[in-house]
Amino acid sequence: MSMSDGPIYYFDNNATTRVAPEVVEAMLPFLTEQWGNPSSAYSFGNEVGEAVDNARAQVAALINAEPREIIFTSCGTESDNAALSSALQTQPGKRHVITTAVEHSANIKYGQMLEKRGVEVTWIPVDRAGQLDVHEVHEAIREDTAMVSVMMANNESGVIFPIEEIVAICRIKGVPFHTDAVQTPGKIKLDVKALGVDHLSLSAHKLHAPKGIGCLYVRHGLPYQPYVLGGGQESGRRGGTENVANIVAFGKAAEMAVDSLGAEVERVRALRNRMEEGILETIPGVTRNGAKEPRLASTSNLSFADCEAEAILLLLNREGICASSGSACTTGSMAPSHVLIAMGLSPEHAMGAVRFSLSKYTTDAEVDYLLEKLPGIIEKLRGASPKTEQSAAEAVHS
Ligand SMILES: *Cc1c(COP(=O)(O)O)cnc(C)c1O
Repeated sequence: MSMSDGPIYYFDNNATTRVAPEVVEAMLPFLTEQWGNPSSAYSFGNEVGEAVDNARAQVAALINAEPREIIFTSCGTESDNAALSSALQTQPGKRHVITTAVEHSANIKYGQMLEKRGVEVTWIPVDRAGQLDVHEVHEAIREDTAMVSVMMANNESGVIFPIEEIVAICRIKGVPFHTDAVQTPGKIKLDVKALGVDHLSLSAHKLHAPKGIGCLYVRHGLPYQPYVLGGGQESGRRGGTENVANIVAFGKAAEMAVDSLGAEVERVRALRNRMEEGILETIPGVTRNGAKEPRLASTSNLSFADCEAEAILLLLNREGICASSGSACTTGSMAPSHVLIAMGLSPEHAMGAVRFSLSKYTTDAEVDYLLEKLPGIIEKLRGASPKTEQSAAEAVHS
């Protein structure tokens, strides 16, 4: 797709976020003058190493961890994969893991790979509201369970899971617990000590830093087997020369995410509610997918009856509006979102779902613009009745 001429109205912050100008400023010296290797013995490298240490402390502070408990990785996906990998490798007798049916594809695909290798995976289901039953996690834990991995908040529905309760169960049973908290910085207060989690994944591009940098928190004292083997970087826990500029950016963004809690997140919540209520009031046949609460302040997932999300997104795109559907393109055709299907939506209902996700940069004017454009788009698509794929396609191409 070519660059858009007009302004962009961005409602896809759960997919990625704008890099904060302060973050760009913080990382730039490490792309220009300070390009040394942090592992080098001379001071030109050491100074860069100090910047990495500083960033590690900033990221640790975001989740109330100790700096030595943070391992920088290439992304949230790597962090998720690394947690499950380490749990199985450090406990060779244990061949069972528990996760949910609505995890990010990082966990889903890794779990499916494990199943092919003879590891048993229990996929905890969710109800229509996108919520899981803690009791089912409890029931699923066995003698040979190597890890329980449950995301903190869902990237599609925004639904927040009762992590504290699940951790309490895992503690009693003596099973390590990992949470994918990628969607939460700046939205939920994070405290690994209070939560009691063993592993936690983050990804910087979901909190206004660049793509390609993430971290895994590993509670001090927990055995850990590296996922990427190589040099002695990250205290021997993750090989590969440090992505210094991105690490510095992540540190700055982590510091800023702490400041986004409180008044800022409440502004986003009010804005999201105004957007959601505005859509529900002005357009008939719209339903919210997932519980109203507890939910991320940024997220709204709505199904539009008799409309295909892909057609809605195409027409929104023409107006400069960016949003997304949870559906995935698999071998040339669209498959409905695994999250919405797990919630019990019919495939048709799931294929009409659009996710709007906001950030601290989302303005009132952007929401006004969306509320102005969306009703006409839905009317146009529905007017292309009878609702065949062809007529929707005609509406899109007219
Ligand atoms: C985006 C996302 C990931 C993946 O992070 P990457 O850095 O893009 O690999 C994992 N989990 C959740 C919940 C996400 O939203």
